[in-house]
Amino acid sequence: MEENNIKPSAASNFIRDFINEDLEQNKNNGKVHTRFPPEPNGYLHIGHAKSICLNFGIARDYNGLCNLRFDDTNPEKEDVEYVDSIIEDVRWLGFDWDDRMFYASDYFQQLYDFAVQLIKEGRAYIDSSTPEEIKNQKGTPTEPGTNSPYRERTTEENLRLFTEMRDGKHEDGTHILRAKIDMASTNMHMRDPVIYRIKKATHHNTGDKWCIYPMYDYAHPLSDWFEGITHSLCTLEFEIHRPLYDWFLEALHLENRPRQIEFARLNLTYTVMSKRKLLELVQEKYVSGWDDPRMPTICGLRRRGYSPESIRNFADKVGVAKRDAMTDVALLEHSIREDLNKNAKRVMAVLNPLKVIITNYPEGQREEMETINNPEDETMGSRKIPFTRELYIENDDFQEVPHKKFHRLSPGNEVRLKSAYIIKCNEVIKNDKGEILELRCTYDPETKSGSGSTRSVKGTIHWVSIPDAVKAEVRLYERLFTVEDPAGDEEPDFKKLINPHSLEILENCFIEPEFSKAKSGEKFQFVRQGYFCVDPLSTGEKLVFNRTVPLKDSWSKIEKK
Ligand code: ATP
Ligand code: MG
Repeated sequence: MEENNIKPSAASNFIRDFINEDLEQNKNNGKVHTRFPPEPNGYLHIGHAKSICLNFGIARDYNGLCNLRFDDTNPEKEDVEYVDSIIEDVRWLGFDWDDRMFYASDYFQQLYDFAVQLIKEGRAYIDSSTPEEIKNQKGTPTEPGTNSPYRERTTEENLRLFTEMRDGKHEDGTHILRAKIDMASTNMHMRDPVIYRIKKATHHNTGDKWCIYPMYDYAHPLSDWFEGITHSLCTLEFEIHRPLYDWFLEALHLENRPRQIEFARLNLTYTVMSKRKLLELVQEKYVSGWDDPRMPTICGLRRRGYSPESIRNFADKVGVAKRDAMTDVALLEHSIREDLNKNAKRVMAVLNPLKVIITNYPEGQREEMETINNPEDETMGSRKIPFTRELYIENDDFQEVPHKKFHRLSPGNEVRLKSAYIIKCNEVIKNDKGEILELRCTYDPETKSGSGSTRSVKGTIHWVSIPDAVKAEVRLYERLFTVEDPAGDEEPDFKKLINPHSLEILENCFIEPEFSKAKSGEKFQFVRQGYFCVDPLSTGEKLVFNRTVPLKDSWSKIEKK
């Protein structure tokens, strides 16, 4: 674990209370061992990040260990592409599992042997009913189920059939292995649940070695036990599976049993988090890929400009709860602003350029203007920005007929150019169609920033020197969905709720020359506009920036209320 840069989260919560309780009773010899168990059937998202921070965070705070385990018991949907991305994303978040990376599929033999033991002890049987019949046996939440006609098969017959299933002698859906529990249980999950099913599918890890695959509810408690997990943290929907989790451990007479503890999933406003839905967005090209900066995936957030620290801080702020709730996406945005406010260099970039000519500034002259890199952090120093006769300013910073409260540039009015001079607009040059081509201004040489000049005007705007500026493409992102809860909305097709304006590409932006060499992932504050980072698609020829977040922080307003 990266002990140096990851701060322990001080927040106490009910999970820590349970663990403290176990430690007081000296359960597990005072050991704490957790795991993060993703199914490699998609890329990780911000909800997983919460689970990762929780599991690895608890291990860190209790001097324990956390494993990475791929829960890969469903061969049809799993893929090594996902395995690789998960490894990369958990590492990037700042966590390390040393040599403890496992696959549930590594345990297929042990899981099989345990299933044989259950059969031998009369705790499991082969059911040869059709899927339809099995469904009908299930009963309903208010009516008990009925026993399968195959429930009382002899041990010998069960063993023979199970071996034949393993050896590929039967087709998918013809037989299953079921736990013999109680078809009348009030908990539907305890009504003789399936342990193994036949699936003649190639597995990403075990290839064609197996054609029977264990169910999650069976594989999970046992994988936890094989790895010596003490606390198995999972999301609330598994609460009702907990009796079954415990049943398998007990039926197999296992000691030092892991304890399952459930917590609420993270749900974010304006976001979908189900892997199935995210996959649909990718496959149907609503987004450019899993790492599209509008996606709530970890790789999407990374490309958008989020730092691992901001995501860890966000997870801490959200905390863990026992009840499902919706978290405001503004809190996530607040977390990255907090980080970048401290750490990002302030630079000047003009996104919608308007040309300004300073008519009284000598042609060919160039001055180096001093500007500080980050007012929040003196140690980040300062840099020089070239000032010349021809500049770009932001189109929005000029109004030909200014609104009442507009204090920026307008005909006859003055404005300060940040870290440079006060200028005055004298003339607006237009083309035949009446479109503004450029502004003719004059500067006041007595007002150079840092020269001790005391003259002040109401507005300050940013600018870049035209002969020096570097052209860049800037991508502005808005929320991907138009409603707060796209998954729970009345509209059944969540894709109808996609925001058509979630991406705006500005191809004609200009930035200070110093940043022509900015590297992929480098983060900046464009003064007055927001936080931006260099997209990995940037090349020496073409600089591309993603807007991480605008400056305005709606969360701090909520906090202050
Ligand atoms: P889906 O249901 O969309 O397929 P999943 O939750 O089953 O996703 P897994 O890969 O099985 O995805 O999840 C790995 C771990 O991350 C599990 O322990 C799961 O409980 C946890 N997790 C998944 N989504 C969230 C979330 N939104 N908030 C917190 N934890 C989550
Ligand atoms: Mg799952």
